[in-house]
Amino acid sequence: MRFSEEQERRLGALGATDEMLQADFPGEKERNRAYQRLESGLAAEQVQRLERFCEGPRRPLLLELEERLSAALREAGFLQVRTPIILSRARLEKMGVFEGSIMEKQVFWLDAKRCLRPMLAPHLYEYMREIGRLRPRPIRLFEIGPCFRRETQGQRHANEFTMLNLVEMGLPEGTDLTARLRELGTLVLDAAGVSGWRMTDEDSTVYGETSDFVDKNGMELASSALGPHPLDAAWGIMENWVGVGFGLERLSMAVSGERNIAKVGPSLSYLDGIRLRV
Ligand code: ATP
Ligand code: MG
Repeated sequence: MRFSEEQERRLGALGATDEMLQADFPGEKERNRAYQRLESGLAAEQVQRLERFCEGPRRPLLLELEERLSAALREAGFLQVRTPIILSRARLEKMGVFEGSIMEKQVFWLDAKRCLRPMLAPHLYEYMREIGRLRPRPIRLFEIGPCFRRETQGQRHANEFTMLNLVEMGLPEGTDLTARLRELGTLVLDAAGVSGWRMTDEDSTVYGETSDFVDKNGMELASSALGPHPLDAAWGIMENWVGVGFGLERLSMAVSGERNIAKVGPSLSYLDGIRLRV
């Protein structure tokens, strides 16, 4: 006899491994006794983890990554920007996201003309143009901040998550953009401490053909795009560029080995993956 669904959920929240959850018992009495033992052991472990957390990092890995990655990118010459979380419908449409499209169905609308941004790209496009008017090439920019998408929430998707989007524009003619993309991906993934990642080819609803960065289990960590791109004209951009968007919660999962995004993202139930309701 296996653990009940409710028992499995509770044990999972407390960090039980698959092996623990798949245990089989001769009867209900044995199973419930094993559950009690496992539950109290795991609960005690959460309290110990909280103690280590208070003595050590004192903040979730997500926030540490945000600081480490932004320092690494500024060091590499990138300017950090902060743009509004509220995005206009007009700018979203300039990204090719129109009513009825797949991406539009994922958008949280505030009213007829404004939404919570599902991506950072539209506001970065504005910065590329404005900074591009004022500064020599290459232009290097990034933003880290919350994005919102209506998702049927699985293990790897949250409605609210943290994106890191970087872009480098105006590279010397003849630059191998894919090689540069790999370099920039390596910079971020090394700074995050992700090992065993690789690049793959993907189809994006917004950008068409793109390269993704995936972790050793095939989980998507980032998607990229290269310019010149058909979307550029609407934004007044006429140069080559390399852009990548990373999900910080996905990076946090890849680094910590945590398989449920709910444990690493913004949360009231978990602090750095530690279950608080024990
Ligand atoms: P997926 O295929 O995993 O749904 P996506 O291709 O729709 O992701 P992109 O638009 O490429 O996502 O966004 C860039 C990155 O942002 C993704 O590679 C991922 O790391 C992260 N991301 C996207 N959507 C979510 C989400 N709902 N929750 C957490 N992270 C996300
Ligand atoms: Mg993608």
